Amino acid sequence: MKINLAKSAGFCFGVKRAINLSLATAKLKKPIYMLGDIVHNENVVREIEKSGIKKIKRLGAGCGKTLLIRAHGSNLSTLRKAKALGYDIIDATCPMVKEIHKIAKNMENSGKRVIVIGDKMHDEVRGIVGQLKGKAIIIDRYENIPYEKIKKIKKAGVIVQSTQRLENALKIVEILRKLIPALDFHNTICQPTRIKQGEIKAMPLNNDLMIIIGSKASANTKRIYEISKSLNFRSYWINSPGEIKKRWLSKANTVGVTAGASTPKATIQEVIKKIKTLK
Ligand code: SF4
Repeated sequence: MKINLAKSAGFCFGVKRAINLSLATAKLKKPIYMLGDIVHNENVVREIEKSGIKKIKRLGAGCGKTLLIRAHGSNLSTLRKAKALGYDIIDATCPMVKEIHKIAKNMENSGKRVIVIGDKMHDEVRGIVGQLKGKAIIIDRYENIPYEKIKKIKKAGVIVQSTQRLENALKIVEILRKLIPALDFHNTICQPTRIKQGEIKAMPLNNDLMIIIGSKASANTKRIYEISKSLNFRSYWINSPGEIKKRWLSKANTVGVTAGASTPKATIQEVIKKIKTLK
């Protein structure tokens, strides 16, 4: 059995940067807190906690404390609140997410209604809409376009959550263009996501089965899995090697392996090792 590992499997630039920044800060300063998970991967969060960084659910008195802002970014009100409470802020927001914040603010300042293509409940999307003075419209799928609201808009700017599926975003934009007279579209899907999605369009067709590794909380892993499953029904989404079933591998000559942007290299290697023992 041949195991084909995707070139883009694992950490993206933004996740690597956030982890390095966290670990470097942990060596220099204490106490440090992170509001929620720094990246969407349980193993990574555990490693970060081992370095002495504490995870908190809400902000408390911040004097003498450092607060790490996660890779997906944060909304402005949380940042302001943290500063007012006395926290020293270390911002691990991915520069590509920061760029989306900037574009959204510019759109709003030039009088455009901001439309975000993304998942309403995702931290990144919350952070993007939380940069704005007004209320943004969030659309996850073309079936959920709020037509009545959209038809009233004369001028809009559209941005996309960095890990969205390109085809989904383009389909939504195509419909919006017919409804909004002046529409400015910025494709803000990040480069690492584009590369991963490009690879996953070929791998499921060239392998008997696909194993996709990543946390169930990871939006980009979910997207990779969905694309893979649509091309090869023998696609399996796992978070750890123990989840692999021997029967998945039956009559398979080739296994494609890929992983989301917040999956550590060690987990990928463990999965490969496990496949080899099961074949
Ligand atoms: S997936 Fe893209 S936007 Fe998100 S952290 Fe990675 S590089 Fe940054």
